[in-house]
Amino acid sequence: MSEQTGLQEGMRVGIFGGTFNPPHIGHTNVLTTVHGRLNLDRLFVVPAAQNPFKPPVEGPTDQQRLEMAEKAFGEYEFVSIDDQEIVRGGMSYTVETVERYAKVIAPQDLYLIVGLDQFEEFDKWKDFERILTLANLVVVTRPKHSLPFTKDELPKGIQSLVADFDRQFLALKSERSIEFVRLQDVDVSSTEVRKRLRTERNVDRYLDIKVEDYIKQNSLYASLGPRIGDYEAFTKFCAQVLFDKKALNVRAFDLTSIEAVSEYTLIASGTSTRHTSALAENIQRAVKEEFNVFPQAAEGTGEGRWVVLDYGSLIIHLFYDFIRMEYRLEDLWKSGKDLGLVDQTLPPKK
Ligand code: ATP
Repeated sequence: MSEQTGLQEGMRVGIFGGTFNPPHIGHTNVLTTVHGRLNLDRLFVVPAAQNPFKPPVEGPTDQQRLEMAEKAFGEYEFVSIDDQEIVRGGMSYTVETVERYAKVIAPQDLYLIVGLDQFEEFDKWKDFERILTLANLVVVTRPKHSLPFTKDELPKGIQSLVADFDRQFLALKSERSIEFVRLQDVDVSSTEVRKRLRTERNVDRYLDIKVEDYIKQNSLYASLGPRIGDYEAFTKFCAQVLFDKKALNVRAFDLTSIEAVSEYTLIASGTSTRHTSALAENIQRAVKEEFNVFPQAAEGTGEGRWVVLDYGSLIIHLFYDFIRMEYRLEDLWKSGKDLGLVDQTLPPKK
C-alpha cells in the first residue's frame, strides 16, 4: 500500500471507510470538512467489500463502486482510493484495515473517520478496543442522530475506555482520542439515492455529475422488473418458500389498483424473532438461486422483529407474530386484491 500511495511516516492520515453505494455529496462533505479541520496530509477512502452489518443488496460490482469513488473524490488531491478491502474480499473488518496503516503511521497521527450513525454501534465492531489503540476516532455529525452530551450517552462498550469527557473531545485511557466534528449537515444517504434512482427521480442535488453519468452509462440501480418478469408468479414463489419454512398466516395482495408503494405485497409471521430472521434468509437465498437477484433493500434482518425485503414491485413484510398484531398492515391493503394463497405442498381440501 505505501509504495502505491506515497504513505510516509510522520504524515497525518485519515481513513474513511464505507460502502459508497453510491458515493454522494454527504461523503464529500465529510472528506473536505475533516481534512480542513484536522489538518490532515492525506485521506484514504476505503470501500468495503461487504459490511458485516449490512445485508447484501442488488447493485454495482465492487469494481464499479471503486470507479464511482474515483469519480466522486478523484479531484481532491489529498484523497486516495484504497482498494485493500475489496482485494481481500469477504467480510470487511476495519480493524484489519487500520492494522495495515498502523504499520507505517504512528497511532497519534492516524484518524479513523465515521459518521454518528456508525459511532452509535461502534462497540459492536470487531476488536473496536484494538482499533482505539491504533488510531484516533473522528465522529462527524449526521442528520437525525444526536451528539452524546454525557458519558452515559456514549455506546456502552466505550464508556469504560474514557479518561476524560469534554463534549467535543474525549481523551481515552489508551492515549488515543475521540473527537466530534460538526458538519454543515447534508441530509442524504446512499439508500435514499438508490431509491430515487430506481424511481427515476432527480438526484442532481446528491451526486457528483461524473458519478451520475457513470450510473446512467452503466445502467446501475435499474429496476429489477426485467429480471423478475411476472411479479404475481414471483410473489407466489416467495410465498411457497414461506409455507415450506412453516411461516404463519401467509398472505399476499395485488395492489395495482390502489395507491401503494409496490404492486404486490406479501406478509407472513414467524413464531419467534429467530424464526422470522430465518424466513428472511431463506427467501433471500431461494430468490438468489432462482432469479439471481438480491433485494434492492433489506431492513431488520438481524433483529427479526419486522423485516422488510424490497424486490421492487414486490415488498415482503415478515413479522415476529406478536409484533404483527400491533401494526395490522393488512388493514392498509384491504381494498387491494387478496391473492388467496394456499400452500401448494398440502393436499387440496375436499
Ligand atoms: P447506506 O444508506 O447504504 O447505509 P450511507 O449513506 O450511510 O449508506 P456509507 O457508504 O455506508 O453511506 O457511509 C460511509 C460513511 O459516511 C459512514 O461513516 C457514514 O456514517 C458516513 N456518512 C454517510 N452519509 C453521511 C452524511 N450525509 N453525513 C455525514 N456522514 C455520512
